[in-house]
Amino acid sequence: MTFNLLILGGTQEARELADKAANLPDIQLKLSLAGRTNQALISKNSRVGGFGGVAGLINYLEAENIDLLVDATHPFAANISHNAGIAAEKSGLPRLMLVRSEWKSVTGDKWIEVENTQAAVDILPSFVKRVFLTIGRQEITAFNQIENIWFLMRMIEKPLSDFVLPKGLLLLERGPFDKDSEKQLLQKHNIDTIVSKNSGGNATYAKIFAARELGIKVVMVKRPMLPEGEIVEDVESVLEWVKRVRS
Ligand code: NAP
Repeated sequence: MTFNLLILGGTQEARELADKAANLPDIQLKLSLAGRTNQALISKNSRVGGFGGVAGLINYLEAENIDLLVDATHPFAANISHNAGIAAEKSGLPRLMLVRSEWKSVTGDKWIEVENTQAAVDILPSFVKRVFLTIGRQEITAFNQIENIWFLMRMIEKPLSDFVLPKGLLLLERGPFDKDSEKQLLQKHNIDTIVSKNSGGNATYAKIFAARELGIKVVMVKRPMLPEGEIVEDVESVLEWVKRVRS
């Protein structure tokens, strides 16, 4: 019997999971992407674009005869995870969340933790002059009203053309990054504060490491609440879950 597995993706882990799950016997998989970034990353097992909320996702699960759902979206992609929780429950489907562990501050870190991006916007002007802004492109415009701060902004792809960017310099780059080049970047632009989401994982941790060594402050945006449900932190645990649930 073949099981249809839907992976909600948009992360490195989701890609890795899709590659490995494709080799499991009796599994037919689909990797779902929101379609925000580079189409070149899309493979033959992918589908692209929103489902149309909870109702659309339930329809999709039914139409594609999905048996198992793995939510491997980014820890800050709260809407799709919430929708997946409701849709799986209403459809009676087993669902697992793959969520990488978050970064924890260690001795030497100068973190200021804030609840969300707006809270970062609110506190910056009180103590900051030159910021390295690494929160992706979707919420970048929240910073464009701030005067007297210069922003070094890094993201994977250009913001939409109607986005008004904060004053500063835009870098289009995809991780992973290494500590030495991050240190050089911070020093070259005389950065005094980094603004980061607590994304976790290794690919973008180098900036946190570099900040610690240079004594630079980090305004760390906390993660949104996850919906209820079983969570694992690595791809191997998802593969074990898939084997267990279908047996
Ligand atoms: P979001 O706010 O949770 O989702 C917004 C809407 O985008 C969802 O309601 C859904 O539309 C659609 N969507 C999101 N992920 C989808 C997926 N994997 N497959 C199909 N539709 C999806 O998410 P977001 O923060 O905009 O992030 C979008 C995607 O980028 C996510 O897949 C996430 O894994 C990835 N990503 C996000 C971040 C981040 O910082 N937020 C960072 C790296 C990667 P419908 O309601 O129409 O179904």
